[in-house]
Amino acid sequence: MDDCIFCKLANNENGNFVYDDENVVAFDDINPVAPVHVLIVPKKHIQDIASLEEGDEKYVVSVTKAIKEVARIKGVLESGFRIINNCGVDAGQTVNHLHFHLIGGKSLGEKII
Ligand code: AMP
Ligand code: ZN
Repeated sequence: MDDCIFCKLANNENGNFVYDDENVVAFDDINPVAPVHVLIVPKKHIQDIASLEEGDEKYVVSVTKAIKEVARIKGVLESGFRIINNCGVDAGQTVNHLHFHLIGGKSLGEKII
């Protein structure tokens, strides 16, 4: 996807990544809502979590690994953190390339669920 900002960021070999493997990268959110706010992003353009298809399992596995690694690197593995995925209009998704927010570093009081 030529005009997708996360395709560009995730496939930049000189990117400033918190985590990087063959399938996903993680980088700091440009507009953090918490002391730790990292985005975990597959290198393949997948619009949202509802668009995952057969063959994408490796991305899901890498996201799972990245969550633990990012939490460890950012020092929130023990204190706790939250993973958020916005899918579609009602969830307020603004970047149409699958990504998971990892937020933490403070008490995340404002629970919806
Ligand atoms: P969402 O609303 O779930 O689609 O989240 C999109 C997130 O991407 C927001 O938290 C933005 O701050 C973040 N974002 C947008 N552009 C960039 C960028 N160039 N680098 C890092 N984060 C970005
Ligand atoms: Zn993309």
